Amino acid sequence: MRTGYGNPAQYITELHVEEECLHLPYTREIIARCNLPVTVLPISRKTPQIPGQYPDNLTVGKHHLVLKKNRGIFFKPCPGTREYRCCDYQVLNIGMGCPMDCVYCILQAYLNNPWISFFVNIDDMFTELDQALSAPDQHFYRIGTGEFTDSLALDSITGMSRYLVEYMSRQSRAVLELKTKSNAIGNLEHLDHQGRTIVAWSLNSPTVMAAEEIRTATLDERLRAASQCADWGYRLAFHFDPIIYHEGWQEGYSKTIRTLFNRVPADRIAWISLGALRYLPSLKNIATERFPQSRFFYEEFVDGLDGKARYFRKQRVSMYRHIADELTTHIGQKTCVYFCMENDTVWKEVFGFCPQQRGGLGAMLDNTVNE
Ligand code: SF4
Repeated sequence: MRTGYGNPAQYITELHVEEECLHLPYTREIIARCNLPVTVLPISRKTPQIPGQYPDNLTVGKHHLVLKKNRGIFFKPCPGTREYRCCDYQVLNIGMGCPMDCVYCILQAYLNNPWISFFVNIDDMFTELDQALSAPDQHFYRIGTGEFTDSLALDSITGMSRYLVEYMSRQSRAVLELKTKSNAIGNLEHLDHQGRTIVAWSLNSPTVMAAEEIRTATLDERLRAASQCADWGYRLAFHFDPIIYHEGWQEGYSKTIRTLFNRVPADRIAWISLGALRYLPSLKNIATERFPQSRFFYEEFVDGLDGKARYFRKQRVSMYRHIADELTTHIGQKTCVYFCMENDTVWKEVFGFCPQQRGGLGAMLDNTVNE
């Protein structure tokens, strides 16, 4: 069994700060906390110098964290597609990039900088959130920070979770999901979270976690952290995504599920998602160059309606059925098991219904946290 990385923030060795952000109290707080060498990036050159070409320099680039201003918007709907059932999630963009290095990580193809960016103009972020969450439309928001980064991977440096959890504790029409593959939960202790934050872990078969998820926490570390969060009163979520076909996948996923329910109280789990591997064609080239020992990209795939490659439906259904059957023997009554980005045919074949029959996937998940 491999030794887990636990807190991937330890991979960061250099901090870079945009000159115009130096005066911000949050920047000063991070600099004081992190004990790293700091380079100031002048307004005339806002990027660190990382030798080599992207993506070859990603492994080195991930040592570098850049504190910068988000000049775009922080809060927007998750980019789902019309062709597949999406869960009506809202993305809060706290940064881009991740110190961990999963072979299948879509960020390798989405981003084109080797370093990690973290946004420090959090006053602007909370102003945007205030505007959205006080709108008179009565919309209920499920918000996640784990779309372009891992929610907790850098938390021991940034301390962002404390600000977010405290902010969310005052909201009545929203929950926050912090999704991670780390065990960096230290900042979540002693917070008056009011049940408005859900702490989530991505899980996979032991083979995939060991071979394809570099610098992540082991299953044991992830579940110990989850159990601790449950003790602190947080609700939990788990994501089997991406589900990857490999030799022994049935026993692998079953084993992870059995271990999960041995270690974590089922009644604390708000939702569990399932999503089979899907990827942009450009990701395959990048990932197979960077990780030549990985074989899973060489299985058979079909082009999906969203332009991403995915397993044939028959194979997806077979994997989903196996995992759903295993989950069914363990889950609590209130836990919502759902697909991330699947079509109605697959929903019906595996679960016997499609989300529209239950008010839509967004409503199914909203009901889970509002009961
Ligand atoms: S933990 Fe998530 S964001 Fe980080 S490398 Fe893995 S897939 Fe990408």
